[in-house]
Amino acid sequence: MVNEEKRKLGTNRSCIRDLFEYGMARAAEIGRENVFDFSIGNPSVPAPAGVNGTIAALAAGGDTRSLHRYTSAAGAPEAREAIAKDLNDRFACGARARDLFLTCGAAPALTAVLAALAVEDAETLIFAPFFPEYTVFAASAGMKNVIVPADTADFQIHAETAAKYLTEHTQAVIVNSPNNPSGVVYSRESLAALAALLEEKSREYGHPIYLISDEPYRELVYDGAEVSFLPLLYRNSIVCYSYSKSLSLPGERLGYIYVPQQAEDAETLLAAIAGAARSQGHVCAPSLLQHMIARCAALRPDIEAYDRNRRALYDALTAYGYECVRPQGAFYLLVRSPRGSAKEFSERAKAKELLIVPCGDFGCPDHLRISTCVDWETVRRSLPVFKELIEER
Ligand code: PLP
Repeated sequence: MVNEEKRKLGTNRSCIRDLFEYGMARAAEIGRENVFDFSIGNPSVPAPAGVNGTIAALAAGGDTRSLHRYTSAAGAPEAREAIAKDLNDRFACGARARDLFLTCGAAPALTAVLAALAVEDAETLIFAPFFPEYTVFAASAGMKNVIVPADTADFQIHAETAAKYLTEHTQAVIVNSPNNPSGVVYSRESLAALAALLEEKSREYGHPIYLISDEPYRELVYDGAEVSFLPLLYRNSIVCYSYSKSLSLPGERLGYIYVPQQAEDAETLLAAIAGAARSQGHVCAPSLLQHMIARCAALRPDIEAYDRNRRALYDALTAYGYECVRPQGAFYLLVRSPRGSAKEFSERAKAKELLIVPCGDFGCPDHLRISTCVDWETVRRSLPVFKELIEER
């Protein structure tokens, strides 16, 4: 006998994975250059040279036993010091090494934080459109998912709408900016309004409502957009960061949780996060990567290629008649299905070897996500296909 819920989770692949697997099989049949695969968010720019060079030097240098050792569960002191310094250099937020818990990416950071907050009857508030795994993570922690519908006019979040969904059971609110799948960067005003609402509701309900800032795309911003650092707007913020996209290392697994010292019950919260991670089998983040980040925490990605793809796709698609909000971050474009359901449109695109993801699982069933982290040739050669698709009767 197996756990039925877990069997279902393991059997029902997400529609992103479905399309991605299909794309790989199709590429083997007809050639990679003939499949326009915009399905998955795998960084298409290489990791910064400094990162690769540091990893190579570490592996080549001397006694590798200390390189591959277990570290303490929260992470090696040098790695946490370096990350805290980088946070302070950028945001002057008073971060200390001991406020950080290093993880194998943002996904385990989120599962640990949610499990740490999962008291009886706990609810997590999520804004559509959202990264589909949030609902899996919160439900697995035993929390109820409460979804705030998207404002499809601007895909910003609105405190007055959120207010209708908060209850005395709300323990956590997740925001993700720059957003997957819309590419929208939430405005400072909208986040400040959310912060004010959460202050008020925390007082009313007599317990803190923690604001989880899931920010794997923090460094991927264009047009000079500003990504607000939530601990500076709201004291009960918890940052879940990842180097998957910012240093193009998604398969290597490194991220962290930052609990600001001014957060209510910060020490207890960090203890519960450590306990939650432990119960989920966390031992430590990869030691080699911790050594790397101790030296490379200040490195940033070269996002020129993403920006070029973003501009070309946005300009061309909107000129063809696709309805789409201009993304200022991440590497996604969210378009409204021009005809029929998003699922049907995705199937029609698939018949032309164009793979774009219908966003039902993201809480936006009328929209499709286009991952713009692809090579330039894919962008250039796919444009006539996008045009043909919208012009078809
Ligand atoms: N959160 C969002 C919004 C994401 O898009 C992703 C990955 O695509 C994750 C979390 C998980 O990131 P990681 O690879 O660091 O686990």
